[in-house]
Formats: sequence, structure tokens, C-alpha cells
Amino acid sequence: MIVILKNESMTFPAMHEWALAEGIISTADKFAKENNITSITEIHIMIGELQQVEHDIVEFALEQLRTPLMKNTKFIIKAIPAKFKCRNCGHEWTFITGDFTEDVSEAIHFVPEMAHVFIKCPNCGSPDFEVSEGRGVWLQSIKGIKDD
Ligand SMILES: [Zn+2]
Repeated sequence: MIVILKNESMTFPAMHEWALAEGIISTADKFAKENNITSITEIHIMIGELQQVEHDIVEFALEQLRTPLMKNTKFIIKAIPAKFKCRNCGHEWTFITGDFTEDVSEAIHFVPEMAHVFIKCPNCGSPDFEVSEGRGVWLQSIKGIKDD
């Protein structure tokens, strides 16, 4: 039986994180069952640096939502650095929001469009660029034990 926290958790301000954790858990559980995995040992999750989620809350939610196949599962969450591409000269570059002051990092983290106010192409100085990586969440891999 899969135990999932439902409506109560949805009313939390951190709804994004809980909805996300539920999606990860149900996808991983389904995948494990389809592949005759009897115990999941590791779940690797990638979260884009500009994705508006708190990793600590996702981790907490995952712990709460463990299914019977996940009694001994280690959840590994990795942040994917933001990557930008200049629309003017085509130059690509990355940065971690930690390079900025806390206020600026927070602004960029919660409103990625704000990045245009603070960031310019290091090659040509143009503020016209796109975010090519750093958004989205992926279930990168699942490790488990099979009976046979
Ligand atoms: Zn440029």
C-alpha cells in the first residue's frame, strides 16, 4: 500500500515541493514495479538552479512519502547550474547564483526574468540572452534490487 500525504500537504505554502515529491515518488515506484525491483536503493533527482523549489523541503517531502519499496532508499538531489546563451553573439556561459549577493541570488532564484537586470553577456555585454539550462526537474536514475 502506498502512503501519500494528500490534501493537507497541498495547502502548505510549499505546495510546489510537495507536488514535485509526489510526482517523483509515484514515477519511481511505478518504474520499479514495471522492472520487478523489490527494493529501491537510490533515487537521483536533478533540480535546475533556477527552478523555484527548496531542496530541503523536497527532501523532507520525499522522506515522508516513501513507499514500501523505498524503505532503504537514499534520495540524492543535485542542482544543475544555470546556463545562458547570448542572443546577440551566441556566447554561452554558466554561473551559480552564489556568485551574487544574497538579495540578488534570491531575486534571480524566484524570478528568473530578473536575471536580465543583473546579468550581461561576458563576451559582448548584451543583456539579450536566453536561459538554456537551469530550469526543470528530472528523475535522473533509480537504483534497486531485483529478486531474480
Ligand atoms: Zn554576447
